[in-house]
Amino acid sequence: MHLDSKHARIYVAGHRGLLGSAIVRRFTRDGYRNLLFRDRCALDLRDQAAVNGFFAEHKPEFVILAAARVGGILANDTYPADFIGDNLAIQTNVLSAAFRTGVKRLVFLGSTCIYPREAPQPLKESYLLTGPLEPTNEWYAVAKIAGVKYCQALRRQHGCDFVSLMSTNLYGPGDNFDLKTSHVLPALLRKVGEAKRTGARHITVWGTGTPRREFLYSEDIADACLFVLRQPEKALYKAAPDGLLNVGIGHDVTINELVELIQGVVGTSCTVRHDTTKPDGTPRKLVDTSRIQRLGWKAPTTLREGIRHTYAWMRQQESL
Ligand code: GDP
Repeated sequence: MHLDSKHARIYVAGHRGLLGSAIVRRFTRDGYRNLLFRDRCALDLRDQAAVNGFFAEHKPEFVILAAARVGGILANDTYPADFIGDNLAIQTNVLSAAFRTGVKRLVFLGSTCIYPREAPQPLKESYLLTGPLEPTNEWYAVAKIAGVKYCQALRRQHGCDFVSLMSTNLYGPGDNFDLKTSHVLPALLRKVGEAKRTGARHITVWGTGTPRREFLYSEDIADACLFVLRQPEKALYKAAPDGLLNVGIGHDVTINELVELIQGVVGTSCTVRHDTTKPDGTPRKLVDTSRIQRLGWKAPTTLREGIRHTYAWMRQQESL
């Protein structure tokens, strides 16, 4: 059942993260006054009893499941047990509690690394489970695939209106800028920003710089979540019969092109050294967004604008 009231009780799981915080800002700006969220210390989503208790007490009508253990290529590869274990626990607990308490619509968020590494590009939703995954993030991907399948199963067996949005690489204000665990865009923004500040003449970029990535601004995925929650059920499942929708900007860049773009925004130019002891990861993961486009949604922010906003935010942080 779609969202049609500003008074609806909407639970945002993961409201402190890059995505969840963008969702809270966006929904608040749009006049949704009944948002529910809990800090990790108040509600550990890996704790099934706690999650059941929260749902039974607060009975959210709509849920956005943006809580997940996430991280860049190295974090995924270094903490495989955390990435698969925490994500399976979080999503299983939230999805089953949402089903049992009769949530009207749930949006489950994941990323396009669920698709096979060698799948044709752009990646269509129908390519799910048609080939082997990229090994550097298979732990996260396997958990997210299980979440997509659990949503589909709950819809098939119980008629739950649970839909999965698979986003391309996200970035934006509030991102993780830690160089060991972050994703590539905030890492490079930090490296280039620091080079400008210190006058360093070169920066180190992991891998060969040739992999292609598509980037989506966090405020835009928040916009997509609201858009999807407001879609009438018939239109939504006509566009996405399996309840799976890709979200992206529609074009990708190489890591080297990203460095150039970031240098242009930051206003500096330094040489690049490639550290090829670090992995390249999947060669490309551009998504096909025709399903969500058919519903009428398109990403509003260009990559350059998004980087500009994120850089402005980063500069305001004392620690960065
Ligand atoms: P992925 O999209 O899941 O592979 O994860 P990332 O967002 O971490 O992007 C990884 C890609 O960016 C790989 O090709 C890396 O080799 C490349 N890369 C270049 N420099 C960096 C860096 O400083 N941090 C990260 N995380 N990736 C980098």
